[in-house]
Amino acid sequence: MKSISCRDMGMDCPWVGKGETLEDLAKQVKDHHMVEHPEYYEDTMRNMSDDEIMDMIEPYVKEE
Ligand SMILES: [Zn+2]
Repeated sequence: MKSISCRDMGMDCPWVGKGETLEDLAKQVKDHHMVEHPEYYEDTMRNMSDDEIMDMIEPYVKEE
């Protein structure tokens, strides 16, 4: 199981996403930011491909 914490990505936010694959986490991160961090989403993530989002989150992903 992989997990990613919004706090580790620099946000003051308790959200943690869990999934089996990096693709799964990338989708959750995208959905979460769209709802909870819309400014960051609009400024940074909206024009990123799924591959780019995976590259961005990979350093913060933990294996459990
Ligand atoms: Zn968050």
